[in-house]
Amino acid sequence: MNRRELLYSTGMGMIGGTVASAAGAQSRAESTNGRALTLADYQPKSVLQVKETHVPRARFPVIDIHTHITVSAGSKNGVDLAAERQYLASPQELLEVMDRKNIRAMVNLTGGFDQGLTDTVTRYDRAYSGRFYTFTEPSYPLFLKPDYPQLQAEAIEQAHNNGARGLKIVKTLGLYLRSEITSGTLVKIDDPRFDPMWDTCGKLNMPVAIHVSDPVAFFLPTDRFNERYEELSSHPDWSFHGADFPSNAELLAARNRVFARHLNTRFIVLHVGNFAENLGNVSENLDRFPNLTVDIAARVGELGRQPRTARAFFDKYQDRILFGTDATPHGDETPQQVFNDKLYEIYYRFLETDDEYFDYAPANVPPQGRWRIYGINLPGSILRKVYNENAARELHISA
Ligand SMILES: [Zn+2]
Repeated sequence: MNRRELLYSTGMGMIGGTVASAAGAQSRAESTNGRALTLADYQPKSVLQVKETHVPRARFPVIDIHTHITVSAGSKNGVDLAAERQYLASPQELLEVMDRKNIRAMVNLTGGFDQGLTDTVTRYDRAYSGRFYTFTEPSYPLFLKPDYPQLQAEAIEQAHNNGARGLKIVKTLGLYLRSEITSGTLVKIDDPRFDPMWDTCGKLNMPVAIHVSDPVAFFLPTDRFNERYEELSSHPDWSFHGADFPSNAELLAARNRVFARHLNTRFIVLHVGNFAENLGNVSENLDRFPNLTVDIAARVGELGRQPRTARAFFDKYQDRILFGTDATPHGDETPQQVFNDKLYEIYYRFLETDDEYFDYAPANVPPQGRWRIYGINLPGSILRKVYNENAARELHISA
């Protein structure tokens, strides 16, 4: 029984089913005629009248450190197995939005490995110099080879020669990769077989963009107390509660052992250090490990609901925060990361204005929890660092 079937076979599933099917019905009767309104039909419109600032262009040129322009053409049980890439948008399509939004460069983290990586670099990075940068990813299909540690280190070196600017680790490590690749027991993030990979990145000055764990709510039961209940109901496979999944704390502890063991390797810890719900924890790790920076991708919803704490965080760590969105062309399933003008305008509004109570994603219902956000009104000196100077330093390109 898979997770979806499991969910539907429980009482939980009844609610989940109602939400999922009702979500498809575009417009229901305006009046509920005394019937109970389902959660999926509830789309309250705020009547609050406050200042609304439109920020069509970023105040300074932007490097988006976290995008997904290409993805693997084949994966199984959450593990990317195909080197071949699927291209989600043409360079021309991307450049139009980039020029409108003052985006100097997009960093495509999921560039894959082998020929798929080379093809991607040729098609984007080399064809439009300075506008696109591509990261490589681990060659998990090689994982069962006895000399995998060495082969993986060599693959990173080869990827570097072929134009990769860094290494991306997706949450596959810790949550999907297993002892027999797609089956068996989960492989730990600090498994020593990856040590040569981390070290090679340090030696070659390639930053490691790392995503481990996921929002804390995904590790809690999908029940009436879960603040991301609707999101988990529509994507039951995003829940890491139960089964043999480690806890969020265990994943972060294993990740921290990697940071501690590889102090000469630079890590860009994605999604606000993988723990945007707890900036105290992220601050502790930034203080503890000088080799870390963080990005803000897909977490303006978290940062913007704690604007005073977030502003203090940006003030204190202004040299270590990178602009990122998780933008995915045509990623309509996840409005908080769909690549379009509106997405960037929300990020700019959050960073540059003191606007209050606005949507963190271009969607009718907030997709990552039913709340709205507040801008943090950063001064130009910090904006410049966050928009491009910090990323330029980590990527070894001119600011
Ligand atoms: Zn991402």
